[in-house]
Amino acid sequence: MSDSKLKELIIRRLGRDLYYKAKDFPNNNINIITKQNDPLFIRVIFFDNERDFHLIVDEERKEIFHDCPSFLIYSSVDKKICIHFLKLLLLLNESKALDIFKEIDNYEFTSEDFGSQRKSTNFQILANVCFKNDNDIDGLNYLSKAIIDQSQCASIIQKYLKNSMEKNLFIEFFEFLQEGYQNQWGTYFKKYNHLIKQAFQKLINSLDKYSFYNLLRIINSLDGIINKKDFSFLLQHIDKFEEMIHSSDLNKKYFAIYFIKKNYNTLIEISTQFKNIIPKNQLNYLKKLILNYFIEEIENFIVIDKLILMENQFKVLGISENQYKDKFEDYKQEINELEKKVYLKKFAFLKLLMHKYNVKITKVDFRKKRNVYVVNHEPENLKNPTYIYIIKKIGFYGINNSTIKSSDLGINYFIVKELFLDDFSKFPDIFYYKTQFWGDQDYQIKARDGISLLSKSKEYSYNIDKHYTNERVMIIEWDLAKKPIKGSIINAYSSQIIIPDQNSPLFHDLKPFDLCYCIKSPVKIEANIIKTVNVITKSSFKDAIKSVSNGMEFIEGYYPLSLIKSVINKEINPFKANKLVTNNPNRRFIPHYTKFIKEFRKFLFKFIEEEKDYIFDKLKQNVKDRVDQILILLNLSNKLNGMNLPYSQIIEKTIEQNLTITSFKDALIKEIHKYIQNILRESEIGATKIFNLKKMKNTPFIKYSDKILRIRKLEFQNTPIFKSNNYYDLSEIKETYYGAKIANLMGLGKKQTLSLKGYNKFNELAKRLNLEIKLIQK
Ligand SMILES: [Zn+2]
Repeated sequence: MSDSKLKELIIRRLGRDLYYKAKDFPNNNINIITKQNDPLFIRVIFFDNERDFHLIVDEERKEIFHDCPSFLIYSSVDKKICIHFLKLLLLLNESKALDIFKEIDNYEFTSEDFGSQRKSTNFQILANVCFKNDNDIDGLNYLSKAIIDQSQCASIIQKYLKNSMEKNLFIEFFEFLQEGYQNQWGTYFKKYNHLIKQAFQKLINSLDKYSFYNLLRIINSLDGIINKKDFSFLLQHIDKFEEMIHSSDLNKKYFAIYFIKKNYNTLIEISTQFKNIIPKNQLNYLKKLILNYFIEEIENFIVIDKLILMENQFKVLGISENQYKDKFEDYKQEINELEKKVYLKKFAFLKLLMHKYNVKITKVDFRKKRNVYVVNHEPENLKNPTYIYIIKKIGFYGINNSTIKSSDLGINYFIVKELFLDDFSKFPDIFYYKTQFWGDQDYQIKARDGISLLSKSKEYSYNIDKHYTNERVMIIEWDLAKKPIKGSIINAYSSQIIIPDQNSPLFHDLKPFDLCYCIKSPVKIEANIIKTVNVITKSSFKDAIKSVSNGMEFIEGYYPLSLIKSVINKEINPFKANKLVTNNPNRRFIPHYTKFIKEFRKFLFKFIEEEKDYIFDKLKQNVKDRVDQILILLNLSNKLNGMNLPYSQIIEKTIEQNLTITSFKDALIKEIHKYIQNILRESEIGATKIFNLKKMKNTPFIKYSDKILRIRKLEFQNTPIFKSNNYYDLSEIKETYYGAKIANLMGLGKKQTLSLKGYNKFNELAKRLNLEIKLIQK
């Protein structure tokens, strides 16, 4: 097969290591943006170690554009070829991949690191796809990434502002402006003053639609831009502000009073009417209200970011520190302790996995190289997939996962100490990071504290509302996070980091490896790399497989959901898929994997049922290797139980007749009967050894059992044992069915002769089977 040809060529030129690394690179971290097949032109973004890398292959111009470190640093072709490029080859149609790989030395390798028009184009295409699918937030995110050199990106800036304004996405709108001003894009924004005005007007008319937290975020962005903007247009909104100040809606009141106080000097220049617009009693009332709210939120255990935003805005309102500082400091301390607890839980889970799956505690020889450490993992451990899982979760990366940052060693110190026997006392930087996060206290990791993170085998059923269509919902497999984010110990990796929304009632019940139905579009984006999604419900394997086969999108983790898609798209045949699922090396630590396989096979059988002709055509091309698969496909495996026949020969003979699949099955069964009857007719010595009557019990071929038994008895009784001197020669009788059986019972192995004692035993066993021995004296 050409598949192995490509593999062979890659391994021969670049080594096994790189090949397998590329093969194992997670499919989810690859985003194919556009693809044209002949000649190949493909744009791809890889998400690797929290960074984006672009890859464009242009077969016609013989050009490969890429920007990952190994591609940038090295000059020789062999070194420039990285796992990203190889992964792409492995995803392509095999003959196309071979064409390109064989020609690789004739390709031009290009990479522009800054101001790249091509990267910008990639992001713009992605953004358009998102907008088309009503995923505006991701769309905006990609648009902002597309702005690589602002002087050439006026149209993108305009598109961003226009789209976010029209869709009422004011968090995104004002955050973008704030970042833009920080990046000195002020001059480019001038042209869009009308859009900014329009957005501001729309915002003050929709303040009550935001959560208070989001309002705080918008205000924070506004604070970052207000000094740089001309707000003279606010003159026409004085009445509106006055109305808001007296409103009973907290959002409106807060926004109006805060905004005026914050921009007091600018506003009174616009109009003196702003001077006494806030009555003292309204201000005092708000101060009291907001301070109480702050204290309540502490008791509600609210996200710390919200309180930090509030605190920043307290100064403007004139709320003094001593009214809340002590409580807030205690709370920060408490949150810090909680974060530690989340880490300790993660460590306990990893330790549990260590115990459960025989990870050896080893010395790996930590060596410092600039600001990272390099180790040699113990070879036995490297063969254990659980070990790889664990070390990746504490921050090992790079070739052979041999590199780790000092800070990761420090933060993960307590589990690192469980995994490795090395002496860390000579590495002060690790202790520096450890103390920064953990203080001086030492913690003992107990494996049993991790049990609560083991996913239970509970059957969830997919009874989410009908209106959650494939357009709105996707499946996410949660994974243990490398570092907990905002209290979440799990995340899903895709082109960004996704964590579950804290407001979900399931938040504290989600475990690594859980499959869940989630709302597709992100709830919000933080720092442009962290998304939160709304979890609807957990999913059973059965439902997940069904949904994926119905076209639902998913973020894959350790359960190979993408194989479902590949089977349906006929990129891979069901038998190969079955093999891959069954031989998954990670299966030992993936919870309830056997159950997953069971459901996956049900899906395969259904697919085979529906697509018999397609599969039959595939199989006909290579009978020898696919005998088992053909028998499974024809649903014959059980019917042929207990018979060790040369099926490939029989199938080949039948296949020559060029039949459809249904008549093929009949013809094949006929051919098998013919073969058996022939064997029985000729009844050569020992020929019936190929039948196991016990196993044949429930098959249609059991009808031959009488005949088989008769042949067996006859051949035994007609085959002599020769006696000479005091030795009994079994060489002929051992060829018969029963002769072999008795010899086996006696454990004779290759032994051909017996003494009298042995013979007597042989005779006794034969008698038990009602068989006479034909003894001939020589
Ligand atoms: Zn690369």
